[in-house]
Amino acid sequence: MNISQSQQLFEHAKKVIPGGVNSPVRAFRAVGGNPLFIKSAKGAYLYDEDDNAYLELINSWGPMVLGHAHEIIQKAVADAAQNSLSFGAPTRKEVEMAELIISIVPTLEKVRMVNSGTEATMSAIRLARGYTGRDKMIKFEGCYHGHGDSFLIAAGSGAATMGIPDSPGVTQGIANDTLTAPFNDLEAVERLVTENKQNVAAIIVEPVAGNMGLVLPKTGFLEGLRQICTREGIVLIFDEVMTGFRLAKGGVQERFNVQADLITMGKIIGGGMPVGAYGGRREIMDFVSPAGPVYQAGTLSGNPVAMSAGLAMLHYLNEHPEVYTRLEEIGNKIVAGMQSNMQKLGVNYTINHVGSMFTIFFTDKPVYDFESAKQSDLQLFAKYFQAMLKRGVYLAPSQFESLFVSTALTNDHIDTIIKANYESLEEILVT
Ligand code: PMP
Repeated sequence: MNISQSQQLFEHAKKVIPGGVNSPVRAFRAVGGNPLFIKSAKGAYLYDEDDNAYLELINSWGPMVLGHAHEIIQKAVADAAQNSLSFGAPTRKEVEMAELIISIVPTLEKVRMVNSGTEATMSAIRLARGYTGRDKMIKFEGCYHGHGDSFLIAAGSGAATMGIPDSPGVTQGIANDTLTAPFNDLEAVERLVTENKQNVAAIIVEPVAGNMGLVLPKTGFLEGLRQICTREGIVLIFDEVMTGFRLAKGGVQERFNVQADLITMGKIIGGGMPVGAYGGRREIMDFVSPAGPVYQAGTLSGNPVAMSAGLAMLHYLNEHPEVYTRLEEIGNKIVAGMQSNMQKLGVNYTINHVGSMFTIFFTDKPVYDFESAKQSDLQLFAKYFQAMLKRGVYLAPSQFESLFVSTALTNDHIDTIIKANYESLEEILVT
């Protein structure tokens, strides 16, 4: 495979961008080799600067649920761009967007648009603190909620991949206000709540965690969090940046039938444009400025082009329930194929899977929190990543990420992925 253009670009990039990339995991540090510089994408395929084609299992880390360059979203963006790119004033589209999101996502009565998942979670935490008048929050080890200071404690995703779950630059004061518990461990949460009586503003959780690899909530975990929060007057925040509009139209709240007080969203709601949002019960959201005292703002928030992309995506998903049936089918087929491959090869790695998200961990033990996720053989993962890439399948370049399928995958693509998985496992098991 010739990747000389990507190699040259990476050399240039390293001179002018820290580490050569604008988001750390993209640098391929955990898997070795040169990151691929992408020129274009269509449907299920990415094309790099050397014109190699790759079948996609990341989909821009989730947003491209219909595959790349879907015509309805491309058209919405092109049409909106005719009317200028930003006004910094209210628009009809923002009202339409808020009404649409509220009609789809359970428990939302009001929603505020921002520009990224990071902004959504940072704002939601500030709001929870302002609303409760308390300082501390509880997050779970291995969960990632963007790069806001408060969240870079025992953080997953790129922070875990780079070996810096507690980032330098976060002050001790901020770190003291972030309490952490193992995912799926209600007793640990109870202990923290008791030790910090009347001082926990929020519990924030990825209700299905995707940032330590995919880790599912055990039966009763989310319900338990709900009970604790209701009992103690704590704001329960579901970070649905990854899972929103993916695991069901209404996200994890709909799929697992548990309600949060605030929801943070991103990725799919922007259709591939930089968009985030947070929302919840009216009583809490009315604390946000200018309705209330908690300040939060954005020059480009509710940007008309971004809103048009998001609206096109959400209208499509709302009107095409078969998208969700197909996503389930694709996820199930790929995972079943991989499981059958492992059986044939006599290995028993753990695959965590729900709907259109899954992760293979190179351990035969169950993975239910960050500690168990870290038992995966990371060297084997790196070899597997490279073996799949060589066969034209693009995976997330870190063990501590989930894979995401799109509806652009045909049954032929699925067969190609399953075959690549067989050959890659075979290759890494003998080397
Ligand atoms: N929350 C979750 C659950 C995420 O997965 C991510 C990003 N992967 C974020 C927040 C941060 O979103 P962004 O990268 O758009 O700032």
